[in-house]
Amino acid sequence: MENQETKKEFLVTARKWRPLNFCDVVGQEHITTTLQNAVKSGHIHHAYLFSGCRGVGKTTTARILARSINCLNPKENAEPCNECESCRAIIEGRSLDVIEIDGASNNSVDDIRKLRDSARYLPVNGKYKMYIIDEVHMLSTSAFNALLKTLEEPPAHLLFVFATTEPHKVLPTILSRCQRFEFKRMEIEDIVRQLRTISDKEGVNISDDCLVTIAKKGDGSMRDSQSIYDQVIAFCGKDVDYTKMADALHLVDQEFFFRIVDDVRQKNLTDIFVLTKEILNKGYDLQECMEGLVEHLRNLTAVKVTNSTDLVETSADMFARYREVAEAFSQQDFLRMLTFASNAANALRMAPQPRIKFETTLLQMAAMDSTLEISKLLGEIAVLKKQIASGEIVALPQDNSRSMSAIAPSAQIQKPFEAMPPAANPAPAEVQENRRPEIIAEPVNEQPKPMPGLSAADLIIAERQRESEQKQASHAAKNADVPPEPLTELEVELKNKFHAERVN
Ligand SMILES: [Zn+2]
Repeated sequence: MENQETKKEFLVTARKWRPLNFCDVVGQEHITTTLQNAVKSGHIHHAYLFSGCRGVGKTTTARILARSINCLNPKENAEPCNECESCRAIIEGRSLDVIEIDGASNNSVDDIRKLRDSARYLPVNGKYKMYIIDEVHMLSTSAFNALLKTLEEPPAHLLFVFATTEPHKVLPTILSRCQRFEFKRMEIEDIVRQLRTISDKEGVNISDDCLVTIAKKGDGSMRDSQSIYDQVIAFCGKDVDYTKMADALHLVDQEFFFRIVDDVRQKNLTDIFVLTKEILNKGYDLQECMEGLVEHLRNLTAVKVTNSTDLVETSADMFARYREVAEAFSQQDFLRMLTFASNAANALRMAPQPRIKFETTLLQMAAMDSTLEISKLLGEIAVLKKQIASGEIVALPQDNSRSMSAIAPSAQIQKPFEAMPPAANPAPAEVQENRRPEIIAEPVNEQPKPMPGLSAADLIIAERQRESEQKQASHAAKNADVPPEPLTELEVELKNKFHAERVN
């Protein structure tokens, strides 16, 4: 890297800080160690396949391997010296022994024939002649077949490294002749550590918060993260503050996500409309926002479930806020919100009116009743049922008995209640068994009428109907572009009913 630093021309970070030794390759120790051992022991395979997503070090590792096997003064642990003539030629891209081919643009059978012809000649400087074929899955079938011939009986000096992001497109006959290495998607913290090293050495003042955001936007790719880093430095200079960086990358402000969840908690429907307008005014993409919300809810769920912030990829100063918000909801609440949001994130791709879809989703979340309240209600129902079964509650007041008959029209289940004398023994077992399914198995499609007073069966029916409505809504969101109704009549009716019940 020093030699490149001395050049006056500007080099992008990804090139300037490209690792020159096996030990500098970040996050792929499982591969570099194996390769080092192979070089040390002289057990070098004649064909390697490096697969993995973009920007994780495939080509870089291939080049290090090329230098390592051809180095004239190899260092300890099979690391190349990067100073001898062979190393320098490879670093400067003028080596005749290491040939890099882009599979995407040299994918015809003629290209491979040319490669085969030149592969016959012995290496000039080092021991091996190495072909690095990038994006090898782009080769045509006939090109693959032409290559196969060489792979079957390779000369001792010949070595292939195939790199690909889509190994499933490589012919099985090729795959079976290669030693295969899968490069891992990079961890956020690995990328952050590397960016921190770079920024420290370049005297850039940047917070961890910013680096985490850059790494997340890089989506597990070191190269992408470094390009984003360059973009940020170009915009902000050597002093990077978060707001400026967010502007440069046009990031959706995290505050929006905290605000959405807060609106849901407070059932603040008005602010949902205001917030959507603000998001649109700032020029953010609604789908990107919804995806951001999915990630935010996922983080909150992870904090809730694991009771720790270990699985949340964010800076340490955000942890306290995540914990605080996670406290305010139940696990089920988060799961339901997450379902709403992820369905919407998919549907927004195709939605003819993204704004309405976006608002509807947030309104649905805010309108949904807390699972805590519902489970409390169900608990109370269970107590009531027990009391009824044990005969503790026998004579219902006039009003309630009418309301019971409104939802349970079948006369025979009314009888045991009414006919039972006040001091009767607990109901016989068969009556209990008959009674329970009668109450629970009420037809779901029967329209419950608004009524005063509490009714256990009514609440059960209402809850079931609400669940089925929700299921339908999420099904519709998954399968159609038409956004589901934000607030069904039933929801409104239910809210009124729960309200009436609390008043009573
Ligand atoms: Zn060397």
